[in-house]
Amino acid sequence: MNIRTQIEERVRAVGLKLTPQRYAILDFLVRSREHPTADKISLALNRRFPRASRATIYNTLNALRDAGLVHEVYLDDAVARFDANLDRHHHFVCRVCDKLEDVPFEEVGELPARKLERGHRVENYEIVMRGVCAACQRREK
Ligand code: ZN
Ligand code: MN
Repeated sequence: MNIRTQIEERVRAVGLKLTPQRYAILDFLVRSREHPTADKISLALNRRFPRASRATIYNTLNALRDAGLVHEVYLDDAVARFDANLDRHHHFVCRVCDKLEDVPFEEVGELPARKLERGHRVENYEIVMRGVCAACQRREK
């Protein structure tokens, strides 16, 4: 399935209208595996659509997030990074180059604790693994 069809189907499934701004952001995020911040998305899209203001892009991102079409990922700096990968997955972050990568859910597997000792029921979790990515390890040698 090509990206346009994929985006059209996702947006239709949640009952949103596919505006040009929504399309541009989703298209950018689906192609990017880099988990960009709103500022980075804004910079990249402004090169292509000079009339898309920062505020428009921020509002559009919030609308897409509220509709469940993009996810936010937070690291220690508490700046939201956006992700159009809606499959359940974890993340790996490299402490040398700061790259944030997807880790398929199957690579980790289910955690044993579905219920915590204090009685809390776990409904969802995602793991952020930290370390040195393969490319940075090669550079270290
Ligand atoms: Zn790295
Ligand atoms: Mn991700």
